Amino acid sequence: MSKKSLNILFVASEVVPFAKTGGLADVAGALPKAIKELGHNIIVVMPRYYKIDKAKLTKLPEPLGVPMGIMGEFWAAVYTTTLPNTQTPIYFIDYEEYFGRSGLYEDEYGNSYEDNDNRFIFFSKASLQLCKMLNFTPDIVHSNDWHTAIIPLLIKTKFVHDFAFTKSVLTIHNLQHQGHFFKGAIDVMEVGWEYFNSHDLESHDGVNLLKGGISRADAVTTVSKKYAHEIQTQEFGFGLEHHIQAHAHKIYGILNGVDYDEWNPSVDNLIAKKYDRDDMSGKLVCKRDIQQHFGLEKKDNVPLIGFVGRFAEQKGIGMIAAIINSLLDMDVQVVMLGTGEKWAEGFFSEVSYHRSNFALHIGYSDALAHKIEAGSDMFLMPSLFEPCGLNQIYSLAYGTLPIVRATGGLDDTIHNYDEFHQTGDGFKFYESSNDALYHTLKWAIDVYYNNKDSFIDMQKRAMNEHFGWDDAARSYIDIYKKILGN
Ligand code: ADP
Repeated sequence: MSKKSLNILFVASEVVPFAKTGGLADVAGALPKAIKELGHNIIVVMPRYYKIDKAKLTKLPEPLGVPMGIMGEFWAAVYTTTLPNTQTPIYFIDYEEYFGRSGLYEDEYGNSYEDNDNRFIFFSKASLQLCKMLNFTPDIVHSNDWHTAIIPLLIKTKFVHDFAFTKSVLTIHNLQHQGHFFKGAIDVMEVGWEYFNSHDLESHDGVNLLKGGISRADAVTTVSKKYAHEIQTQEFGFGLEHHIQAHAHKIYGILNGVDYDEWNPSVDNLIAKKYDRDDMSGKLVCKRDIQQHFGLEKKDNVPLIGFVGRFAEQKGIGMIAAIINSLLDMDVQVVMLGTGEKWAEGFFSEVSYHRSNFALHIGYSDALAHKIEAGSDMFLMPSLFEPCGLNQIYSLAYGTLPIVRATGGLDDTIHNYDEFHQTGDGFKFYESSNDALYHTLKWAIDVYYNNKDSFIDMQKRAMNEHFGWDDAARSYIDIYKKILGN
């Protein structure tokens, strides 16, 4: 192949700003933009969930037929628009019976939809059918997580005639979710039962969509370098470590970037006062704003520690619960924003009731997330595992020093404070233990009170860091070209 500009189909189950449950959506909203800016033809495809307003989209004239094996052929509508402020087209697969629901993957009680296998096999096939309808022949199909992990196998089987020269990349944003289903799904996928074996789809007498994708993708990427290694170990492999080891030669780690149009204190309209590293006075205004918003005592010289994220075991929420009362016994203020496991919501509500230096908002609020990033002095992210993590990178941009466990993307992005050499931009601990977390918090608080100059220098170093999508996009293009053989 000699042509320079590539045709890329980017398929994701969630894309900012249309639907988001986590970091996957941030990536899917930003990476295609950056790839397009490098001069490639990229189209994005996602489901048209109930909450996405059809009135703001353009409907394609023709319906889209999607073969669903033993279930027959289903007909979807297709809508389109562009990613905000770009020329990057995004298409929405509209099929009421599968996507006309309040949740993306689960109902309001947190139960996964029972037909998630059919929903996302349908979506994966629909994205390939759409290419045919648009006469778009991709050089590369880029799928993401288990929802679309079957695409690399589909283009080698059922869809081979139309995609004979297409290569595939599968990005793992979180290995914990693999798409385990009843093996009868094979008859809906139409990939052939010969792929129901322990090297491809089979797992515990069911199918594992992510496993099949890892086998058949031409390249597999993870969203940080460290995570690419970690998933080959028992601690982080979620049962797939041996399978991943067997495919290690085609696994690459590419760190996510940040959309600095959105997460940047010098342009952020959601925060009380803008600031930058040359004049950080606005940060104090943001801190007072948070104290006011949450009804915390208005004090400038107390370390304010923020947390934004899912209340999930992955995020170290159990460790935070274990140490929160000891932490609050110190002279600090803590603010948490999140939703998730019910025990955690109940537990932290109880804490907020009893402790005046602790505040909580249960829910999802982008505006509050920005305010917390800007107004806090430190940001807490003690994840047990973290494929990339975005909040710690946002924190750097806001001069809010991250306190993290050294895992995955957290370890790749945060440099530990070194008092002797006066380097670093955050505080790291290694062992996933309550003690390690507590002592690291204590250390960070001590630096805040007793070594203020070093603390401010760290803030400046943090704000100097840059994690742009342009670099990440270039790394993806290198991989695309490598698997295309040019
Ligand atoms: P994950 O994808 O594992 O949830 P990431 O750190 O990669 O974690 O991305 C989480 C994204 O979701 C970030 O952009 C974060 O700001 C946002 N987020 C998570 N919980 C909330 C919440 N309760 N309110 C607002 N934003 C949230």
